[in-house]
Amino acid sequence: MSEVNITLQAAYDLAFSCLTQHGCNDENAAAAAHRMIQAEGDKCHAHGLFRLPWYVGGVKSGRVNGSAQPTVNKLASSVVKVDGDNGFAPLAQKIAHGPLVDCARENGIAVLAITDMFHLAAMWPEVEALAEAGLCGIAVTASYPYVAPAGGIKALFGTNPMGFAWPRPDGPPLVFDQASSAIARGEIQIAARDGQRVPVTAGIGPDGQATTDPNVVLQGAQLGFGGYKGASLAMMVELLAGPLIGEFLSFEAEADDAGRGGPPKGGELIIAIDPARFGNPEHIIAHGEALFQEVLKQDGVRLPGDRRFKARELTKRDGIKIPESLYNEIMSLRV
Ligand code: NDP
Repeated sequence: MSEVNITLQAAYDLAFSCLTQHGCNDENAAAAAHRMIQAEGDKCHAHGLFRLPWYVGGVKSGRVNGSAQPTVNKLASSVVKVDGDNGFAPLAQKIAHGPLVDCARENGIAVLAITDMFHLAAMWPEVEALAEAGLCGIAVTASYPYVAPAGGIKALFGTNPMGFAWPRPDGPPLVFDQASSAIARGEIQIAARDGQRVPVTAGIGPDGQATTDPNVVLQGAQLGFGGYKGASLAMMVELLAGPLIGEFLSFEAEADDAGRGGPPKGGELIIAIDPARFGNPEHIIAHGEALFQEVLKQDGVRLPGDRRFKARELTKRDGIKIPESLYNEIMSLRV
């Protein structure tokens, strides 16, 4: 596969100009482009420039508000709500970060509900930012019905990711961020684009039969990771990022899209916990380090997040590589 090598700045400029040319104002375009380039920089390609045509399509269709002005409200002493004004999630998340941190420091724990926005991305940027501020973070969001309930063959739950971050005294925090499906939707789409197979655990065809063909999985249903356990976690995320905050379940988001093929509209729930309200924060964080030291004593073990942090250092220096076909597609979006 031919690839094009570009700097992170050039990739950002490309994404920003595409978004502004198709109806985003500067503030919304900057936040969305930054989030895509963060993903590219950490080699999380399924949430990088690969998503740009989807973002552009969402704004062009008028479904996504490219001039969204998210608003922040306090629903209770430890509950913050941000209405995303029908825009892309990154601007609402950026605006919500400060109020969530303040609220968590004040109360020990705070919950952020982001509603009325279009989420396409990973969870790690939000929880990592919380851990950089000294807090523990948990984030969840739903998407479209892609995953069959355990034992079923019809897609009902989203691939519903969960992100978690824990602050560390030196260097980047501990972060994991994973779909509740066996593999993320974007990975299946990329495998289909690149003519590759997917693991047999990834999903089933419309007839319920196992397959490694990504195109057949895309027509059928994905499976939860670890069988019924992943499916239950997907159901938990549906409830927390849907009914709890007055937002769509994944199948409702699909109905709302009405076949337009745009990004899913919905919500995100983020929980921030301040260790300082549970005791001496230095002791608490040092105690966590004791766990990491034990984990890393074993051969072949790494901490979740480490691959991304290493990739980040490399792409800062070397730039990123994107498939030539994607590069050409993006160039063709420019007017
Ligand atoms: P992966 O399976 O690639 O990775 C999941 C987590 O496990 C990561 O934190 C990863 O760290 C860690 N990990 C992987 N291998 C190891 C290992 N050998 N040892 C220790 N830790 C390891 O992610 P998914 O495919 O499940 O999800 C990909 C992304 O897609 C996520 O960012 C998720 O938020 C996003 N997503 C978004 C959705 C949405 O609707 N918005 C829906 C579904 C997924 P590392 O990153 O360092 O490899």
